Amino acid sequence: MVTNAAAVTSDRRTQLAITLVDVVGRLATGTTAMIPVESPAEVGVVDAWCRGNGHSVLAVHADAVEVYRGRLSDLDSKIPTERMPGRRLWLYANFHCNLACDYCCVSSSPKADPRALGVDTVAALVAEAVTAGAVEVLVTGGEPLMHPAIDEVVGICAAALPTVMLTNAMLFRGSRLRLLDALPRDGLTLQVSLDSATPGLHDAHRGAGTWLRAVEGIRVARSMGFTVRIAMTVSRRDDAQEEQVRQFAASMGISPEHMVVRHIARQGEATSGIVLSRATLVPEVCNGRGCLVAPCRGHRPGDDGEHRLDAPRSEHRVDPRGIPRLPPSR
Ligand code: SF4
Repeated sequence: MVTNAAAVTSDRRTQLAITLVDVVGRLATGTTAMIPVESPAEVGVVDAWCRGNGHSVLAVHADAVEVYRGRLSDLDSKIPTERMPGRRLWLYANFHCNLACDYCCVSSSPKADPRALGVDTVAALVAEAVTAGAVEVLVTGGEPLMHPAIDEVVGICAAALPTVMLTNAMLFRGSRLRLLDALPRDGLTLQVSLDSATPGLHDAHRGAGTWLRAVEGIRVARSMGFTVRIAMTVSRRDDAQEEQVRQFAASMGISPEHMVVRHIARQGEATSGIVLSRATLVPEVCNGRGCLVAPCRGHRPGDDGEHRLDAPRSEHRVDPRGIPRLPPSR
């Protein structure tokens, strides 16, 4: 976690330390609390205090840091075998993109080095994943449709395992529309990013006009016979907004189980979001059979364990082994 903690005055450090001792000291182990911060530099102060006192920073928001009482790594021993990392293969097919979103966790943009995976490499990776017992492949980027051989890449994946290709759905025209048409319909889901039911929020992160083109792309993909899943990326939980997107998706013929709500990760271009760790990644990489932590207010009374990283709602399971879930963040 890179922050300039030295820029924080000693008075403010003292205030933060008093707040942390008071708030975290009263938390039960395995629960979280919000610590207000006034600048990015103060995130480093909170992080250093947590490290020195056996606690963890779970998420960073614009005005607060979410602190977890205890070490997230302590949860590793409680991960059931079937949820250990390795059940899903994430392939970063290429790193360049037609967009440059302000929260892109891999800093993709039209200027990014493509670093495209070769078809032979993909074939070898998929074969290895099958041998290792993987159950699903996710092809992402960058924008995968900018990979010149994405039809071959996805064809290899979908022939071996259920496959999801993540796309912003904005390049479904010309030669790339022909590439799209060459993708298999069976065994493949297109996961399209759509952050809001109207252009405002989506365009604020992704650029003017991107929402409309994504919606057009969704319609094109569905008319071509693809299964489409919508992925909504959020900074904080907002049930009303999620419901609006769900209803908008339904108006395009996309059912609720084909909707994913994922949190911004504090990585790459993002200055706030969940802090990645093995424990917070578990739902993302392991098909989301329950989860161990509650990133960014992920659990609330009545949620029944649904996680908020990258699992479709239909993947939700109450943890069968009784692993303690976190109470709501404050
Ligand atoms: S978030 Fe997705 S669409 Fe946006 S720049 Fe990154 S890879 Fe491209």
